[in-house]
Amino acid sequence: MLNKNIETFLGCDNDYEESRLVIFGAPFDSTTSFRPGTRFASKTMRSESFGIETYSPYQDKDLEDIAVFDGGDLELSFGNTAKALAQIEEFAAKVLEDNKLPCMIGGEHLVTLGAIRAVAEKYPDLHVIQFDAHADLRDDYLGETLSHATVIHRVWDLLGDDKIFQFGIRSGDRSEFQWGQDHVYTNKFNFNGLEQVIEQLQGKPVYLTIDLDVLDPSVFPGTGTPEAGGVTFIELLQAMLQVTELNIVGCDINELSPIYDQSGVSTAVACKVLRELLLAVN
Ligand code: MN
Ligand code: MN
Repeated sequence: MLNKNIETFLGCDNDYEESRLVIFGAPFDSTTSFRPGTRFASKTMRSESFGIETYSPYQDKDLEDIAVFDGGDLELSFGNTAKALAQIEEFAAKVLEDNKLPCMIGGEHLVTLGAIRAVAEKYPDLHVIQFDAHADLRDDYLGETLSHATVIHRVWDLLGDDKIFQFGIRSGDRSEFQWGQDHVYTNKFNFNGLEQVIEQLQGKPVYLTIDLDVLDPSVFPGTGTPEAGGVTFIELLQAMLQVTELNIVGCDINELSPIYDQSGVSTAVACKVLRELLLAVN
């Protein structure tokens, strides 16, 4: 049979109707505080994904055996942050309404707010697990309340206290960490304490957001705000596999910026993280 030449992420060429998992790109980087470029992540990942296998020796599962629909990239209103977030929310809501699981490829981390708005609408008792180098808990960044430096504070506005669990955090200003102590669970530097959190969140609906800069820059240099002292790929994978034992109702990976990735290694890592994530949440 002849097929149209439409590039999807590796092995994710199933029809919408038959798929429980829906991946889509949110190529937005307008509020990036340092070096932009994450808008190119999803496109680059689709083409570079053909350099990795569909089979995971870690999980003994294969992307060819599961049904994933790749919805391509959303056309977002650059220059209008609120509208771009509304467009992400609208798409995620449609996916959820069809009882499918949205898995978004950022974009900068702010795109997570759009997706979580839709997921929290469907699951009011939503809990969020965040893997990140940065706390992202500022109330505003240079006066702007919608920013990738404020995204988790905005998520807290929606969900309230004791719903957000951060791991790997090693950057933020003092006031973010102080504010966080009263409102969110923060584990600095690594994944210590994850097991207890997983026990605590049994049966709850959980959104997993992976800011790929949680990885050490030696593993993942291709990002706008690299932060030394991060986790290894294997540590991230093990944490991800633990978290996906929970009731995951939405997920994303974000902050790959291919233009700072001269060797292509960061994109290859991001593709592998996405492969493992899809296989784990399916
Ligand atoms: Mn972040
Ligand atoms: Mn970050």
